[in-house]
Amino acid sequence: MDTNHKSLSVRAEDTLDPHDWEVVAQLGHDTIDLAIDYLRHVRDRPAWREMPQEVRSRFKGGLPQEPQPLEAVLQRVTEDVMAYPMGNVHPRFWAWYMGSGNMTGALADFMAAVQGSNLGGGNHAAALVDRQVIDWCKEIVGFPASASGTLTSGGSVANLIGLTVARNVKAGMDIREHGVAALPKKLRFYGSDQIHNCHRKAVETLGIGNAALRRIETDADFRIDIAALRMAIAEDRAAGFLPACIIGNAGAVNTGVIDDLAMLADVAAEEDMWFHVDGCIGALIAIAPRNRALVAGLERADSLALDPHKWLHAPFDVGCCLVRDAGAHHAAFATQPEYLASAPRGIASGEWLYELGLQTSRGFRALKVWMALQEHGAEKFGRLIDQNIDQARTLARMISKTPQLCLMAPTIINIVCFRFDPGGLDEDGLKALNTEIMLQLQEDGIAVLSDTALHGKHCLRAAICNHRTRHDDLELLVTEIVRRGDTLLETRVKLEDLP
Ligand SMILES: *Cc1c(COP(=O)(O)O)cnc(C)c1O
Repeated sequence: MDTNHKSLSVRAEDTLDPHDWEVVAQLGHDTIDLAIDYLRHVRDRPAWREMPQEVRSRFKGGLPQEPQPLEAVLQRVTEDVMAYPMGNVHPRFWAWYMGSGNMTGALADFMAAVQGSNLGGGNHAAALVDRQVIDWCKEIVGFPASASGTLTSGGSVANLIGLTVARNVKAGMDIREHGVAALPKKLRFYGSDQIHNCHRKAVETLGIGNAALRRIETDADFRIDIAALRMAIAEDRAAGFLPACIIGNAGAVNTGVIDDLAMLADVAAEEDMWFHVDGCIGALIAIAPRNRALVAGLERADSLALDPHKWLHAPFDVGCCLVRDAGAHHAAFATQPEYLASAPRGIASGEWLYELGLQTSRGFRALKVWMALQEHGAEKFGRLIDQNIDQARTLARMISKTPQLCLMAPTIINIVCFRFDPGGLDEDGLKALNTEIMLQLQEDGIAVLSDTALHGKHCLRAAICNHRTRHDDLELLVTEIVRRGDTLLETRVKLEDLP
């Protein structure tokens, strides 16, 4: 035994810690300098660019077995990774719906990783930061202090968590134990035909099935038709289904439209149904001084999803689900396995946060929200939301004054749907022309838009969730779209040849 012990003790154990901390310190400082330059000069770079084939091919190597100096690895990050971003930190990125990040959030992610805490729960500072961010989110949307919540990977999982609690509460039996097969009546969920696709994934995952999520028609402004909703609920009840949950849009993904949330809350109350609000886009308007009235009724939700990685510009990823009834939230996920028992003192005496969602281990996402909210204050984030809404309304005005452009939906908040329509083209021709314009803008690094279809008509979509956007960026967008559209028509490009 003695000899054994000796031979073990002379061999130096290995570790991932650097042999020379000074070298890492220097590289770390250099990396911070690069990061700061990257953001400081973001406006000078293209909004997006295609990666050359040669660079692309460098992502095909197999599992590295031999070490390389960290310096060389970082060099590759600079050249091959940082140079080809998605682009959402750029002032002219307006595709889909993304936040544009912030330096403090990046520092927070770094510090969170250095501390390395696991937000599965326990008695430590990161858990308290996590709980405080949830308290702040409750305050933002006007939920009571007694409500519960959890930070998630994003809005999709936040919606899934809210809908899980809805299903379990309204099932009328122990659905966790017996599953959906044992339901006496099949559940029905309702949302407008404008709801985000994550709700489809949620009902599929929950075993209710896509067909049980009824998409209710919308009016000309894309708001849910309340009369049609009432009719669908009555119809389903008569047919033996159990209407369980109404999903309201606080900022729908296509146009940003906000359903009549107070009215939906009334219908849910009358029908003894759960009211879930998808506020991934619009819930944060509750802190915008000039527009907060748009989301009135939000505070009446039973559960609500919001997305700090959108209008709070937290670096990806962080979403949030709030549930009014803390007991119902806990009851939907609590499991108490023997290996995660609570202790009267010590590290296991803290709250077990894994009992509020699907993840066990969870990253310290809260820190980036906590730090940026303290640095800037919620009021400033509110003003930036108002600023984006103003910019969208300005863009809509510019479009309506431009003869070749045509607005395709009302601009309620920060999403503008429009298209280049010189007249004389059919739907297919317009789609081909507008798609080509959109792709040229991306490939030339001018601006990044996405597209969608509204009541069957193709259009371009600018979602201005960006604290770096300025007025002249919008002017450039309109000028470049018109110039490209006109040129495409003049050069008589065969529209059939376009994608
Ligand atoms: C973005 C979005 C989601 C999904 O959120 P992720 O954070 O992307 O998972 C859900 N609903 C709406 C309305 C959204 O805009």
